[in-house]
Amino acid sequence: VLVVPHDTVWSMVDQSHDVARNLLAIIAGRMRNDNSALITSHNKRAQYEHQATVDALTGVHNRRWMSEAFPRVLHRCKLDSSNSAILVIDIDFFKRVNDTYGHLVGDVALKSLAKIMQVNLRPHDLLVRYGGEEFAILLPDTGIEQARSIAERLRTMVAANEIISGDLAFKITVSIGIAPTTQSGSLEDFFGAADRALYRAKELGRNRIEISA
Ligand code: GH3
Ligand code: MG
Ligand code: MG
Repeated sequence: VLVVPHDTVWSMVDQSHDVARNLLAIIAGRMRNDNSALITSHNKRAQYEHQATVDALTGVHNRRWMSEAFPRVLHRCKLDSSNSAILVIDIDFFKRVNDTYGHLVGDVALKSLAKIMQVNLRPHDLLVRYGGEEFAILLPDTGIEQARSIAERLRTMVAANEIISGDLAFKITVSIGIAPTTQSGSLEDFFGAADRALYRAKELGRNRIEISA
C-alpha cells in the first residue's frame, strides 16, 4: 500500500468502494500482525527476565536477584528506622547425601528444603538460593529475638521433614547463622556476620542456630 503514490491511492479510494474495502483489510491485517509480534516479544522478554532471577531447580530467587532486592529492602528499613535480620542457611553434611543417594536425590532434597522455607515464611520475607546448598533470607521489620524464633521454627521443620524420592525416605538438617542489620552497615557486612555465625553453628555441632556476636 505504501509504495503506491499518495494521489493514486486516494483517487482509487474515491472511485471504488471495493478498493477502499481491500485497502482497509490489508492495513487492519498488518496492524494485527504488528500487535501480536509486539505482544510476543514483550512476553518473551518478561520470561527471560524471570529466568534470569529465579533458580531453575528450586523456583526460589537467585543470587542475582538478591543483589538487587536485598539492598532495596535494607534501604527502606533504614528510612523507616526499622529492624531487620539476615539468615544464612546451609545443609549439614550434604556431600554425604549426594555420595549416599546420588546427585539427583540430592536435588530432590534441595527442592524439598526450598519448599519448606517458602511456605513457612511471611509474604514479605525474601528467600534466595545464593549458592549450591546455601540459602539466605532477609526478614524485614523483624527484631533479633523474632528472627531467632523464625530460624528455630525453620530448623525444626526441616529436621522433621521426610524427603521422599522413589523408595527412599530420609531427613536432612540445616545450620543457620543470623545477623541483625544496623543503620550504618552494608549488605556485605550483614552477610559476613551471618556467615561467621553459621560457621560457629557448624563448629558447635550443626543442626543449630547461632546469632552473630
Ligand atoms: P557441612 O555440614 O560442613 O556444610 O557439610 P557439607 O557436606 O554440606 O559441606 P560442603 O559445603 O563442603 O558440601 C556441599 C555439597 O553440596 C557439595 C556439592 O556436591 C553439593 N551441591 C552443591 N550444589 C548442588 C546441587 O545443585 N545439587 C546437588 N545434588 N548437590 C549440590
Ligand atoms: Mg555449603
Ligand atoms: Mg553444607
